[in-house]
Amino acid sequence: MAYRKIIQVGDPLLREISQPVEKVDDEIVTLLDDMKETVEKAEGAGLAAVQIGVLKRVFVINVEEGYFEFINPQIVKQAGSQKGKEGCLSVQHKVGIVERPNKVVVKALDRNGKAFKLTAYGFAAKAVCHEYDHLEGILYTDKALSIEASDQ
Ligand code: ZN
Repeated sequence: MAYRKIIQVGDPLLREISQPVEKVDDEIVTLLDDMKETVEKAEGAGLAAVQIGVLKRVFVINVEEGYFEFINPQIVKQAGSQKGKEGCLSVQHKVGIVERPNKVVVKALDRNGKAFKLTAYGFAAKAVCHEYDHLEGILYTDKALSIEASDQ
């Protein structure tokens, strides 16, 4: 595993649409390993591959319920709403209030190329939506109701 540099807002890559993974091979497993090391070291709640400069539809979330990896994710259902603080490892020293669904159902592939479905609630649902947006070139600051400075 290797720590990879997290790109920051202003880098045009963050605005690109990530491409589907055609085959879950060793390269993807290495990417996932690097993302794990990177998000843990950065103490983030999630990380999308584009944030380390790889335009592939891969993200991870690192939440109370556990650590989850998603390849080619699709949000197939969403319900409810929540409004809360959000930050991003690619947008340092800021937090914003964002409205998100309170529950999402995600379909994706795991690191073995096996399909799975996961239902996330509350903070985890927010993390899934935030990371999914990265795959579409969207940052939370695009959606935030308000943004303020933070020491994080
Ligand atoms: Zn982010």
